[in-house]
Amino acid sequence: MRINFKKLIISWSAIIITTFGAYTGLNMAESQGAEIETILKNTLLEVRKDLTADNMTEKEEILVYADKLLRGHYYDEAIEILWTFPDYALEVSDEQPIRSKIKEIERAKASLVKYSGALHHVFFHSLIVYPELAFDNKGHSAQGYNMWMTTVYEFKKMLPLLKEGGYILYNITDFIESDDLKPERVKLKDIMLPPGKIPLVISIDDVNYYEYMKHDGFANCLVLSDDGRVYTQVVNLEGEIELTRDGDVMPILDDYVDKNPEFSWRGAKGIIALTGFQGALGYRIIPEKSKEENDIATAKAKIVADALKKNGWLFACHSYGHSAFFRNGTITNDKFKKDTEKWIKTIEPVTGKTNIYISPYGVSMIFARGSSYSKHLVENGFNIFCHVGERREIYHHGNYIAMPRMNLDGYKMVKGKNAIRKYYFEPDLVLDPERPPLVTPSKKTKT
Ligand SMILES: [Zn+2]
Repeated sequence: MRINFKKLIISWSAIIITTFGAYTGLNMAESQGAEIETILKNTLLEVRKDLTADNMTEKEEILVYADKLLRGHYYDEAIEILWTFPDYALEVSDEQPIRSKIKEIERAKASLVKYSGALHHVFFHSLIVYPELAFDNKGHSAQGYNMWMTTVYEFKKMLPLLKEGGYILYNITDFIESDDLKPERVKLKDIMLPPGKIPLVISIDDVNYYEYMKHDGFANCLVLSDDGRVYTQVVNLEGEIELTRDGDVMPILDDYVDKNPEFSWRGAKGIIALTGFQGALGYRIIPEKSKEENDIATAKAKIVADALKKNGWLFACHSYGHSAFFRNGTITNDKFKKDTEKWIKTIEPVTGKTNIYISPYGVSMIFARGSSYSKHLVENGFNIFCHVGERREIYHHGNYIAMPRMNLDGYKMVKGKNAIRKYYFEPDLVLDPERPPLVTPSKKTKT
């Protein structure tokens, strides 16, 4: 037996209308994120993939499907699906599995509590796939990679530990909503989660696959495959090009959440922060190329970005040029405006509008309340700013919020073990044995 698709599509339409109805009035900030229709379809396809028993009845399939939605915290959607088949929901018999499932979901929804603890945001750079290439000191220095990067091995180890620690991926845009009375302001929104869960935002900086990283054991770019999933394109140690599911944070997290839907609040993944000077996601959109070539690169990158957004990923501006003027605090208003304009002109056609700005080098100076920089960002539609810092909270500045982030990279896992141990996991369980000993220079800034 197979689930009646027509019936489900009708039900989806109803859910979509209800969901969008509920979200009327939200600003573009909150319109980022996974579309509910895609989520429901993807979940159904995953369930189908998982089902090994072909002789399952329609009722059993519906239960598996609803259960997967429940695990992903799609309570209303799961109930809707079950009620799409009223004959089952209303059946009179000793066993009423559909009715019991509806009750179970209703209980889960009713048990949500308002979260008021620390607000965690951790960040990464693109992951090291081949430590033997990253740490060989050919090309870019091994020291920089050793400090500011995380390896695939480490990222994969962290996920179950974070999940066991009660963390649940949360969309940064779900922290705010627009203020109906004062449209120029944002309001902090209540966070409702299952008891004991801690919201966790993650971001990945510089997902540009820069030229300097070639031959150093990173992915080359992200690619959308025929199966609708985004893969990493990697040159393996034999020099062959491969599409892999574990060449960076994105496919690894997508697969992890597929298997562990409870780790994500309604499909939330993370924020992909892009600069612009070498294009986006591994596609070069650069002044040296012709307009036609750049248009093609933009279109290719957009296909990948659209697929990522449908899977719960958000995008952020990480400045166009990642200029050293940010780091040394000498960025003038004029330079800052031009830099932001260039990003909007070059990268926004790939990512679509975003309201998230992640500062290069983690600087907080540009986000100061009342500063001309933050005013400029707000005027350009940004209202969520992220710098680097260890205060686990959100600063509400009227028409924008600022949220500090902490790095989970080689430097922090070696030099900042205590903070990681206190909040997240035992770093010694995670550290890649292939890392060389960490030597730190006097100056240390990279984000
Ligand atoms: Zn950066």
